[in-house]
Amino acid sequence: MLCFCVAFSGCTSGVVEKTTTSSAAVTTETTTAATTSIESSKEYPEDCIVDPSVFERLGKSINLEFKDKTVIQTGEVNARKYSLTVDLSGWEGNTTPEQIGELSRLFWQVYPALYERFGKLSDAPSDVVLLIEDHGYEVAESWENKVHIHDKWLYNNTEDYDCFTHELAHVIQHGWDGDNLEYDSYIERFADYCRFVYCLDNGAYNDHVWTLQTVADESSRKTSVRFLVWLDYKLSSSGRDFMKDYFLICTKGTYAASKWKKAWEELFKGTEFEGRSIEDVWKEYAESEFASVSSYSDSEITSELISKYDVRTKAKSLKG
Ligand SMILES: [Zn+2]
Repeated sequence: MLCFCVAFSGCTSGVVEKTTTSSAAVTTETTTAATTSIESSKEYPEDCIVDPSVFERLGKSINLEFKDKTVIQTGEVNARKYSLTVDLSGWEGNTTPEQIGELSRLFWQVYPALYERFGKLSDAPSDVVLLIEDHGYEVAESWENKVHIHDKWLYNNTEDYDCFTHELAHVIQHGWDGDNLEYDSYIERFADYCRFVYCLDNGAYNDHVWTLQTVADESSRKTSVRFLVWLDYKLSSSGRDFMKDYFLICTKGTYAASKWKKAWEELFKGTEFEGRSIEDVWKEYAESEFASVSSYSDSEITSELISKYDVRTKAKSLKG
């Protein structure tokens, strides 16, 4: 699955997505040229690309190695080994070393959490490559275990770190095929669900640069990210993780697009929505307060949505 994700700056969750299963569509490969220094237009010295102190705030022990224009980070979380390789062979110094440090911290905070709940189900890769470069896309894209972020995106949108959370969700969606989803737009809706729920530092950056659209703007299950967040909040529990079951049906391709009435029936079985149609459940969502309250926050104040419905704490307590 190749995803080109074009997120519009400011408080929107609009995305334009194109997917292909063609193996010819492989994006830029990393270089293995034995270059020993980072050639940057801003001439950052190699040894300060990622400050090891960024990991101290996480309480995790991450090994750092600088090699051939890459920053290789390895560590173990909940007895599983992960690595993040930041490939800077196409970096021109627009994304600052501090921002690269925050992207690295985001990976170690977000990816293992996504993996514990979802990635184990899809056998997603535990080694991820992040390429910061300027190659033929506006914001970011992902292919297999590689995530590309445009070198000028964070330069121009200085706090939009969670575009990386969105792309990491695409890495977790290992095997999703649009033909076996009710709508292929569910690929993007799930990535944005992950962005909202698992964002860096509980939304410290995300909630004042990117918000969930209300039901007035995303008025169907085909387009709504917030509907997924609501379903998770309403239905997931330690005994029955609705989102995990949703993810599994999407990963396995259990139902062709035309058979999703049955998928919803299966997903609602054993929940308070058992026996109800997806249209009826949507109607309940659309009329709820949850569908309309703001998820915007400035740096100091929690959003109205999170104040009233702490979806993040609940979701993160469910580890699959
Ligand atoms: Zn995307």
